[in-house]
Amino acid sequence: MTENKRFRSILLFGPPGVGKGTQGKILGSVPGFFHLSVGDVFRSIDIGSPEGKEVCAFTSQGKLVPDELTIRIWKKALDAYVALSWFKPREDLLVLDGIPRNVAQTSLINDNIDIRHVVHISCSDEEDMIHRLRRRAIRENRADDANEEVIRRRFDIYREQSKPVLDCYPPELISHVEASGSPAEVLSAILKALIPIQNEHFKNED
Ligand code: ADP
Repeated sequence: MTENKRFRSILLFGPPGVGKGTQGKILGSVPGFFHLSVGDVFRSIDIGSPEGKEVCAFTSQGKLVPDELTIRIWKKALDAYVALSWFKPREDLLVLDGIPRNVAQTSLINDNIDIRHVVHISCSDEEDMIHRLRRRAIRENRADDANEEVIRRRFDIYREQSKPVLDCYPPELISHVEASGSPAEVLSAILKALIPIQNEHFKNED
């Protein structure tokens, strides 16, 4: 990390296909928020490089990339965005998307990240999310969305390894947002939760 201070952050959390990426991108276009998706970072790596090959071996199977490799690549991306001043930690809240994805990662990022709020986007209808992923497979040409077995594995991993991350944060830090509304409705609920957090952040800018 280029700074000693912990980055004030928002965690966008939820199962695959729930719209974290879509909402994160919109949020990232609002001044004062910087969105960083680990999935996007992984997809931007040269798949011919040794690191790219290693990552792809896991993502293509719908498995979690090992923690050490995930954290190393994610930190490198974060440092680059700070160096480029795309992410300005004094002004921007970092919107984390895809990390932490298991309980071990919550401690591994703790030295660098200060989570101010968690937005848990949930959907009770798993079949609806699978349908969304299938549409995304075509739209974004994502191999991990095209295969039914890989999709089901990602949901199993979410239930078993990712969902327990929510228990690592106090309930008053978490807002629950239902994903089945229109994108504008979901966005509105997210903003309602985050406006007070951003106001607080602007007050404490130093
Ligand atoms: P989704 O939108 O379906 O949740 P992402 O784009 O966030 O998918 O992630 C795609 C894939 O990248 C995951 O299925 C997983 O293989 C890998 N991945 C993303 N974030 C992490 C992480 N924090 N730790 C380990 N693997 C990760």
